[in-house]
Amino acid sequence: MVLSKEEVQKLDEEFAKKSAEEFLGWALNRFHPKMALANSFQTEDMVVLDIAWRIQPKVRVFTLDTGRLHQETYDMMDRVRDQYGMNLEILVPDSAEVEAMVRSKGQNLFYQSTENRHECCGVRKVNLLKRLLSGVDCWVTGLRRDQWATRSSISKIEIDAGNNGIVKLNPIADWTDQQLADYIRVHNVPSHALYQKGFTSIGCLPCTRPTQAGENPRAGRWWWEQDLQKECGLHVAAAEK
Ligand code: SF4
Repeated sequence: MVLSKEEVQKLDEEFAKKSAEEFLGWALNRFHPKMALANSFQTEDMVVLDIAWRIQPKVRVFTLDTGRLHQETYDMMDRVRDQYGMNLEILVPDSAEVEAMVRSKGQNLFYQSTENRHECCGVRKVNLLKRLLSGVDCWVTGLRRDQWATRSSISKIEIDAGNNGIVKLNPIADWTDQQLADYIRVHNVPSHALYQKGFTSIGCLPCTRPTQAGENPRAGRWWWEQDLQKECGLHVAAAEK
């Protein structure tokens, strides 16, 4: 393991009260270039990217291009590359895996059962994430505790037991909606166009819809799965603190 459980525990306590800037500054100093930021171009990920880029302009940022994204998400990829002048690491699924899956179950298998939905997320997301994570010591997310019940107890620093025990950082785990909005405004961070169309959480096109007032922000993800976890498997592997 990159860090012991005791070290992670100590760092979690140490950084609990420190800013995301201080936390990412430490992380970049400790892990760069064997550290990579996950980015789906939603507000949280963009804030983490912006903070890290101001500290280290060569910070590594990757995104999972499932092949089923909204055009607005592809537009964001171009915008981020231009505005930050960075080589975005765009990961694509293994073509043989996709071909085998859609030949046997069709392009829209995810609507048929939860098992099929998890299979598609596995082929188009989780497997490529695992490929990337096998080559780094640390990855960084924009997860926040108040996004969904499954995220309410995440720590700022964890050992990712599902990915060879590398370190997983959630530097804005404790941020509020207001903090995010303030940061975006002050720093002119690019914003995904689908927020203007009623989307409050953005994933693949066939699996995301806009939400209504009063709905949980993640209610539009896999909306046909009313009572299930709104997760795709990227963040639900057992993580040890
Ligand atoms: S979100 Fe939908 S289309 Fe995207 S990988 Fe998961 S099941 Fe497949």
